Amino acid sequence: MENERNLYHDLESILYTREEVAGAVRALGERITADYRGKKPVFICILKGASVFFSDLIRQVDLPLEIEFMAVSSYGASTKSSGEVRLVKDLDRSILGRDVIIVEDIVDSGMTLHFLKKLLITRGATSLRIAALMDKPARRVAPLTVDYSCFQIPDAFVVGYGLDYNERYRNLPDVGVLSPRIYAQEEQ
Ligand code: 5GP
Repeated sequence: MENERNLYHDLESILYTREEVAGAVRALGERITADYRGKKPVFICILKGASVFFSDLIRQVDLPLEIEFMAVSSYGASTKSSGEVRLVKDLDRSILGRDVIIVEDIVDSGMTLHFLKKLLITRGATSLRIAALMDKPARRVAPLTVDYSCFQIPDAFVVGYGLDYNERYRNLPDVGVLSPRIYAQEEQ
């Protein structure tokens, strides 16, 4: 039924169903809850891609957490990283002395999070870890450890569950591999 939605016609395949995503997010929330027992971490959502994952993840964490939002420049309308990272929206509050968890949709080259991690360390966070929905370790360029990830995926361009191509597909409830015919058309 859902797969008859028009957006699904642009997918090559479904990589993770909404049920698989929900199970992995629940397990990650339980792990973070155990690891941060007795602490009051600040969860930072990296807009816009992580927004759906973030809102599900924080509801699976049983801690007195706080939330913040940051935005950095992204791929724009391309499926390839420009390698340039620019801060578009900064935090509203200080993270001095706080345990911080950066929540990201997907780690590819690692350039974005390498930049953000360095920046947040200069702001005086006591500890800083990264939680990503997906990790593409084969594509890593920057030296970066992803502390928590729900899925390690091969080198494919994925959309859905918050992830976009050219601002579309964020509202797909599942994670899918975008058909190359979509970006072959538009990136000519
Ligand atoms: P990195 O700096 O690690 O190369 O890139 C991270 C950002 O690139 C992610 O936050 C995401 O916005 C974008 N990105 C990387 N791989 C993919 C992908 O497969 N699909 C989508 N939609 N975005 C991606």
